[in-house]
Amino acid sequence: MRQIVIIGSGPAGYTAAIYAARANLKPLVIASSVEFGGELMKTTEVENFPGFPDGIMGPDLMMKMQAQAERFGAEIVYDDVTKVELAGDVKKIHLGDGTVVEALAVIYATGSEYRKLGLADETRLSGYGVSWCATCDGAFFKQKKVAVIGGGDSALEEATFLTRFADTVYLVHRRDAFRASVAMQERAFADPKIQVLWNQEVAHVYGDEKVTGIGIVDTETGTETTLDVQGMFVAIGSDPRTHLIHGQLDLTEAGTIAVEGRSSRTNIPGVFAAGDVVDPTYKQAITAAGSGTVAALDAEHYLADLPNDLLVAAGGDPREPAAPVPDPAIISA
Ligand code: NAP
Repeated sequence: MRQIVIIGSGPAGYTAAIYAARANLKPLVIASSVEFGGELMKTTEVENFPGFPDGIMGPDLMMKMQAQAERFGAEIVYDDVTKVELAGDVKKIHLGDGTVVEALAVIYATGSEYRKLGLADETRLSGYGVSWCATCDGAFFKQKKVAVIGGGDSALEEATFLTRFADTVYLVHRRDAFRASVAMQERAFADPKIQVLWNQEVAHVYGDEKVTGIGIVDTETGTETTLDVQGMFVAIGSDPRTHLIHGQLDLTEAGTIAVEGRSSRTNIPGVFAAGDVVDPTYKQAITAAGSGTVAALDAEHYLADLPNDLLVAAGGDPREPAAPVPDPAIISA
């Protein structure tokens, strides 16, 4: 049995691991079999993470976080969690290879997953021209035309990145204003390869075996046009990844895991949540990292209050018995 298991290996998971490892809690990080490192593994340059004045590539940042956690004794497992049993003092985490890991405390930092447009052909042509990751798939679109759907930071970042490969990048947005940061917008507007198409929604994805075009509808006039593109990158945000804890942990109206005040404490004692899975608003690497810190500190306090026999069973150091309170009669004598 472990003192603490951290599920997730994004900025929240690894920061929690750094703090838990430095507190000698010997954390085990379940990092996922494919998506280890979280969303930053699919990003290019990260320019807003403090401490890197010249920017840092997303995957490099995650490797550094992992190395820092391992330096203090965190152990990483590259597998997926298939089921969690969170009630009671001993939590059970089931892994893809059949292993069941037991732990006294769990930090749930599973991040978020990409939203889909909800079109049948989007799923059918996924991997055949439809993608959610420009850094992963962009190179397949050299000298081609692609469309990026969305109007947030992700969409504008993806569009700008894709201009390295594609001849034309259509940025298709359902409204007439972006919600992306001003810096991202200025970069996209200044790029001659990017054509912004306002007030357009995707109605169709065309192609038998590969994407050959998309049908977009003008939200004001209802007119449908076909864009001849070989790729469609969907960048319309993400939803918290909570499917494993439904029925166990309480959720907010936004679908994130509910926590007590500014803490990471969920409705189940010993279960803490951090990162995008608790954050419907900010979703930044640095806020996730801060939230991972909170979770590790909360977990540390929780473990410190557990009975000695449980801590020892989980490989923890037994606490020193409290010093006896001196007899006031002896002190005054
Ligand atoms: P987001 O900010 O939620 O933006 C999603 C965009 O997709 C919005 O423009 C939204 O349109 C559009 N959209 C949503 N559902 C749609 C649908 N069904 N059909 C068509 N369009 C749809 O998501 P995000 O861009 O992934 O960013 C998430 C968070 O990560 C943000 O806090 C962002 O700042 C952060 N982020 C930061 C960076 C960076 O700093 N380097 C990079 C990427 C992301 P409406 O505008 O009409 O709602």
